[in-house]
Amino acid sequence: MTQITDHLAEIERRVSDCLIHNQREHETVEIVAVSKRHPASAVIAARAAGLTHFGENYLQEALGKIEAVDDPDIEWHFIGQLQSNKTRPVAETFSWVDTVDRARIAERLDAQRPASAAPLNVLIQLNLDAEAQKGGVSPDECYRLADRIAELPRLRLRGVMSIPQAGQPDAERRARLLEVTAVAAELRSRGHTIDTVSMGMSDDFELAIECGSTMVRIGTALFGERG
Ligand SMILES: *Cc1c(COP(=O)(O)O)cnc(C)c1O
Repeated sequence: MTQITDHLAEIERRVSDCLIHNQREHETVEIVAVSKRHPASAVIAARAAGLTHFGENYLQEALGKIEAVDDPDIEWHFIGQLQSNKTRPVAETFSWVDTVDRARIAERLDAQRPASAAPLNVLIQLNLDAEAQKGGVSPDECYRLADRIAELPRLRLRGVMSIPQAGQPDAERRARLLEVTAVAAELRSRGHTIDTVSMGMSDDFELAIECGSTMVRIGTALFGERG
């Protein structure tokens, strides 16, 4: 518990140093605590330390944990690959889906979002490495998908997210991260009012912030190694 508090203090210090070094000291970066394969007790400890955004990849694991934690002030992000036959529980339970990459998924989430809930926040997942096994769309597909999402009343497009290829040299990773920020800027110039660029994980969040990230997804650096 105290360990999570210490880890969070260290991450927050590094985020704010990084913002200062990049002349972004008046901005904030949201921390999404990635709690996959960590127990509900870890979420409760991180919540007590002040975090409100939590990310989960695996639907069954997430649903059990969300029920166990039972905290209405948490904003849960679905950050895994979403199959179209699994959209209903996601639309009913989560506040964000960070990995939307198909019109069909967006349309189902829109149709299944309960009327009593706020619109579902969504990010479009970009895949700039053209890795076939990974989800995500190209920039051109992203602009088309954003126009479609804008027509769906129960969804609120908040921005883009990306998971860069593991093991890339720094220079290449930087180029990819800058491209994500450029796609977000292009969405804005096309009239989409978005506020979120989600990129950066435990190993690269400072580089991601340097390249324009507004939301980092941190697992290991906060909770330790996954079980
Ligand atoms: C697991 C995961 C993370 C967190 O990764 P760490 O390296 O543990 O910080 C972030 N984003 C996504 C999409 C993930 O699946």
